[in-house]
Amino acid sequence: MRYVSTRGQAPVLGFEEAMMTGLAADGGLYVPERVPAMSAAEIAALAGLSYEEVAFRVMRPFVGEAFGEEEFRGLIAESYAGFGHAARVPIVQIGANHFLMELFHGPTLAFKDVAMQLIGRLFRASLARSGRRIAIVGATSGDTGSAAIEAFRGVPGVEVFILFPHGRVSEVQRRQMTTPAEANVHAIAVDGTFDDCQARLKEMFADRRFAEEVGLAGVNSINWARVLAQVVYYVTAAVALGAPHRAVSFTVPTGNFGDIYAGLIARRMGLPVERLVVATNQNDILHRTLTGGEYRKAGVRPSISPSMDIEVASNFERALHDAHGGDSAAVRADMTALREEGGFRVAQGALSALRDWFASGRASEEETSAAIARTLRETGHLVCPHTAVGLHVAAGFLGAVPMVTLATAHPAKFPEAVEAATGLRPPFPRAWPTCMTGRNG
Ligand SMILES: *Cc1c(COP(=O)(O)O)cnc(C)c1O
Repeated sequence: MRYVSTRGQAPVLGFEEAMMTGLAADGGLYVPERVPAMSAAEIAALAGLSYEEVAFRVMRPFVGEAFGEEEFRGLIAESYAGFGHAARVPIVQIGANHFLMELFHGPTLAFKDVAMQLIGRLFRASLARSGRRIAIVGATSGDTGSAAIEAFRGVPGVEVFILFPHGRVSEVQRRQMTTPAEANVHAIAVDGTFDDCQARLKEMFADRRFAEEVGLAGVNSINWARVLAQVVYYVTAAVALGAPHRAVSFTVPTGNFGDIYAGLIARRMGLPVERLVVATNQNDILHRTLTGGEYRKAGVRPSISPSMDIEVASNFERALHDAHGGDSAAVRADMTALREEGGFRVAQGALSALRDWFASGRASEEETSAAIARTLRETGHLVCPHTAVGLHVAAGFLGAVPMVTLATAHPAKFPEAVEAATGLRPPFPRAWPTCMTGRNG
């Protein structure tokens, strides 16, 4: 499998190199040259298999020969062994035809673990072979940072640097990032927003001499391997609900567009996905783009769903590249306009493709709180504010097709917002390990 940059001016790479590189040298993001198809029979054959086996079958064609078959199976098994649920990513029913996909059973209680636990092991295996040393640099709105630190702390040959926006992450997230004692972990508070952190990151990658000197690697959702690992749970959920015989829709609490982009890849592989609904908080640039046709920055306002307080949604560039039919010159023009003029108008053809694939909605702060309270009342489940944004938006798209809303974090990770909405302090899961409970003080 070969990977090309969305901007068309970086070397074409194999899976392992694309993963180890992160951001492409031309500032673009790596995408597979061709998306492999799953036939209806292949999808049907996934019914009843373990999460790990589905993960292997879905990801294998994208990975090619980069990792041996047994090696890859072993790394997948290790990645999910530490999850606090036997199904790894269980789905629970919360309404007539509405389901929650619980993505928060990993070690740092957010969906980022699903990909990061695997990437950590793929990096480790690759570095052990090459003997290289690398510096992983990540920007985070909170959850990517804690998941990356958890996945890479103490890994030989790796230094981890995480930039997070000072005062704009939850207290649990801050502790998860700043309490690990391993010498290879460096959490850096930046006076600014997530977008500022991500901009610094992109500048570091753009300085090719520096990047090569320190062996710069990226594990943000700009990293293709992250997106790939997230494709798997769209498949497991759809199959559990009747794919390939029945279509399924998904509502995805969205910030950097990585998670929902994985849903588009699943659809392009042949999974019967009826609708992918982008759910945004008050930072609704993606909703405005899909409805109004113009991607234009308006400034980020901090919200109670901080992991989605983002305006420059990096992975939107991947969707744009697909919507432009792979025309990298068109992507370059859009990205130049975004940088120089703060926005761009999506060309008509691309916009209709995007609207074919994605619907969208937004939740205000009040609507988010109300959704947390209503969900508790109607189902007995406490949900995190990001999940609540998804539930608020999903309510407008319920119908004959089963809707799966992605529960992207555990409510205990955002206790203030949950308690303010319900009066209840969400308890941490029974066996919650690592930095909050002793190993690191
Ligand atoms: C990262 C994150 C999101 C947004 O996911 P993207 O892939 O950036 O769109 C939503 N909710 C939570 C809890 C997150 O950590």
